[in-house]
Amino acid sequence: MRYDVIVIGAGIQGLASALNLALRGRRVLVIEKTAPARHASGVNAGGVRSLWRHPAEIPLARAALQIWHDIERFLGADCQYHSNGSLRIAESEAEVEVLERRVAELASLGYDHERLLGREALREIVPHVAPHCVGGLISTDEGSASPYHATWAFYQRARREGVDFRLGDAVSRVERDTAGWRVVAGGENHAGDFVVNCAGAWGDAIAAMIGDRVPLSREAPTMMVTQRIPQFLGPVCGLVGRKLSFKQTDAGTVLIGGGHRGFIDEAREQATPDARKLMVSAQTVVEVFPIMRNVPIARTWCGIEGMTPDQLPYLGPGRAAPNAIHAFGFCGHGFAIGPVVGRVVAELIVDGESRLPIAPFAIDRFARPSQGTA
Ligand SMILES: Cc1cc2nc3c(=O)[nH]c(=O)nc-3n(C[C@H](O)[C@H](O)[C@H](O)COP(=O)(O)OP(=O)(O)OC[C@H]3O[C@@H](n4cnc5c(N)ncnc54)[C@H](O)[C@@H]3O)c2cc1C
Repeated sequence: MRYDVIVIGAGIQGLASALNLALRGRRVLVIEKTAPARHASGVNAGGVRSLWRHPAEIPLARAALQIWHDIERFLGADCQYHSNGSLRIAESEAEVEVLERRVAELASLGYDHERLLGREALREIVPHVAPHCVGGLISTDEGSASPYHATWAFYQRARREGVDFRLGDAVSRVERDTAGWRVVAGGENHAGDFVVNCAGAWGDAIAAMIGDRVPLSREAPTMMVTQRIPQFLGPVCGLVGRKLSFKQTDAGTVLIGGGHRGFIDEAREQATPDARKLMVSAQTVVEVFPIMRNVPIARTWCGIEGMTPDQLPYLGPGRAAPNAIHAFGFCGHGFAIGPVVGRVVAELIVDGESRLPIAPFAIDRFARPSQGTA
């Protein structure tokens, strides 16, 4: 059978792309070398935030929030999405000035969703924050979801909409054929008019098969989860000056991340936490939320993520071939925008253009000498 679109990778980007394409009447095959939600999309911190994003990503993040607010009806499954707000905490007056400059920059771009909090207002929202914390920045209409449940829900809905899957087959070649592409996976050939590269931290290898060579490195952000403690925290918290992402789940456990890196075994495509960095992370948590002192850590883990030189994803048509679409390299914050990335990919294929601005994510931006790391 010849497909309209072959999607490579069944993380949230590939699954959301496949679902949106199927909803627009396209015949879609997803090829995944392991299992849906096996990599970053299934093991991340679940933060759904527009707060503190690079301005180029804000239109996508705000559009994604509209989908998240209705995600359970859209996917027909409980994704444990909560809109409890995202918060950045300032630990010094110098950091408050950073927040003030951020709000001014966003205002000049026409955004007002990030709001400054003074010392008292911060404590009304997070009463257990440490005395040295002097202010914050909040976006109230966002929060977090369960990464595994949400990604799996995209998989299930895509299946219900008729998307075909080849699971456990790694794509080893992508070649042009007369009408589009021949994709070789698990020793079989699959033909499609379009190919969509959603291969996550391995997207550079698929891009090279298509003819687009791009810089991408792999990193392993680390997570910890504590045992259950009584509810004390509403929003997802981060810091201005130190690595921390911090949230309490419905069950009472506290999820701690923020970007400390673990070790990657490239051959086995597995990652393990670095104990020294876990200690730094735990120390930060206790300093900012003293209530966390003596709370036992139940489990730690890492996921593997693709990082670009400017911390922005590759999202858009191939330079070598416009009937190849890239959506990879989400730099540690792609879960939140996954639902809208799927819509953008479908628009590029069905309408020929995206309604959202994606020029900053062009696959060839590092190949243009005058633009560098735009
Ligand atoms: C620990 C951690 C915490 C994070 N926290 C957050 C957060 O709080 N909020 C947020 O927004 N983002 C967060 N992120 C980032 C987010 O998880 C990723 O940006 C997002 O999941 C990327 O989705 P993806 O579909 O591109 O990649 P993936 O989920 O990695 O999916 C890519 C898929 O492609 C498959 N694949 C690769 N090569 C091939 C091939 N040759 N053939 C077939 N299949 C192939 C892989 O097996 C994989 O399943 C975090 C990431 C990590 C690791």
